[in-house]
Amino acid sequence: MSGEEIIVVPGDGIGTEVVPAARRMLEHVGEFSFVEADAGDAVKAETGEALPEETYDLVAAADATLFGAAGETAADVILPLREAVDSFVNVRPARAYPGVDAVRPETDVVFLRENTEGVYSGHEDRLSDDLSTLTRVITTSASERLAEFACEFVADRDADGFHVVHKANVMRETDGRFREAVLRVAEERGVDADEVLMDAFATHVCLDPTRFDTVVCPNLAGDVLSDLAAGLVGGLGLLPSANIGPERGLFEPVHGTAPDIAGEGVANPAAAILSAAMLLEFLGHEEDGADVRAAVEDVLSDGPRTPDLGGDAGTDEVTDAVLDRL
Ligand code: ATP
Ligand code: MG
Repeated sequence: MSGEEIIVVPGDGIGTEVVPAARRMLEHVGEFSFVEADAGDAVKAETGEALPEETYDLVAAADATLFGAAGETAADVILPLREAVDSFVNVRPARAYPGVDAVRPETDVVFLRENTEGVYSGHEDRLSDDLSTLTRVITTSASERLAEFACEFVADRDADGFHVVHKANVMRETDGRFREAVLRVAEERGVDADEVLMDAFATHVCLDPTRFDTVVCPNLAGDVLSDLAAGLVGGLGLLPSANIGPERGLFEPVHGTAPDIAGEGVANPAAAILSAAMLLEFLGHEEDGADVRAAVEDVLSDGPRTPDLGGDAGTDEVTDAVLDRL
């Protein structure tokens, strides 16, 4: 295997426990070189800066970065880092695992969330003591870029097609543009695309998640609905995510710093290891990524398990078990 460089940014809290676990997995499956970099509350306390320029520059130049979590400074860290990799899509698989308690054990849905605009455009104004406004930004170009990614994604996943979630019946101009661009790209590419209103989606995915495979969403809808799906599969400790740009990627567990269990060595490393599996796939090591996923699945169903899943094992013991299966 090649010696690709991976930037490793553990951050704060359990980030410093689960990212080293994911790094051990990467060291086990490939010959990568690793560069560790700081970000978050701890480095801010030391230097005054939550995101040192050196870290930003490393991430902006590398093919792939593995990130853990940042505490109070999360927004100051993760938003610029997503921008550093020019990430236009956040890929969030929500999948239940055999043997893990879940509200809907049949859930296997991947959210493709637009990652640059929508209501997170940053255009908020306080116009008077009584009035604040927000400008919701939707561009054809960002919507098309997301749709093109979705078409390739479902082809790789052997899925029949995808759903596009929107509320174009009310937000006719913005979601109208989003809907139109996504459906047009799908049609041009010969990919089946169904549409579903976002409020109806929230109900349908709870009642029967098997109706959905890949779901393409504007920014806020993707954020909220993927967290809802996280609830269906039972447990933040299991959910990975990938911020994908045209050339680079930033991979991070969906969970945060979990201050209540930080430092105890009991954080579930599954989300971080599964994020690193997405990193492997992004770098073209598809088989390794699939092997890692299978190994994590085995360990989740047979144990050992961390306390969040009802077990009494620590982070290292679970990581050892995953490496054994590999
Ligand atoms: P932050 O502000 O950094 O997001 P938080 O208090 O919201 O911190 P999260 O990391 O978002 O904490 O997690 C919420 C809860 O879920 C935690 O308190 C923790 O108990 C549990 N949790 C999250 N991730 C894990 C994990 N990897 N292993 C075990 N439990 C976890
Ligand atoms: Mg949180």
